[in-house]
Amino acid sequence: MKKKVYVLDTSALIGGFSPATTEIEQVTIEPVLNEVKDEILRSKIDTAVLMKRVKLLNPSLRAVSTIQRKIKRTGDSISKTDVGLLALALDMKRRGKLPEIVTDDYGIQNVAGVLGIPCRAVLTPGIKKLFRWRVVCPACGRKYRRPAIRCEVCGSKLRRVPENLGS
Ligand SMILES: [Zn+2]
Repeated sequence: MKKKVYVLDTSALIGGFSPATTEIEQVTIEPVLNEVKDEILRSKIDTAVLMKRVKLLNPSLRAVSTIQRKIKRTGDSISKTDVGLLALALDMKRRGKLPEIVTDDYGIQNVAGVLGIPCRAVLTPGIKKLFRWRVVCPACGRKYRRPAIRCEVCGSKLRRVPENLGS
């Protein structure tokens, strides 16, 4: 049987996911820990790292570039830290494990869905359907394939809307 591994996002740690409450292997990347600004929470997490309950790993460059390509397709706006975390999850999958990303971040959940990596939400109910961002003009309805700020036709400010990709 494949071994499950939790890939921890900053939102999971801030949202109250407690690394001490599970026997399942847990991994994350250092930039995620650096986003935890609360001192008490940070020291709790540092302890979990020292006890080797949470392993700090580096994603492979190959996985990082795969994620960057996927993001171009979905149009999600995702931070460098999030890219690293998704890449780590992909590495786990390629090593024959069953990664599950613990996150409340919709952008991460969406890209993970495209990669076929399940997510577990801590606070929010979780995303139900995969979608891709589309840019549309709220005034004249014109759709844009590429990110743009203003409508070429009427000059209105464009809006990003989710378009379903099916589930
Ligand atoms: Zn328009």
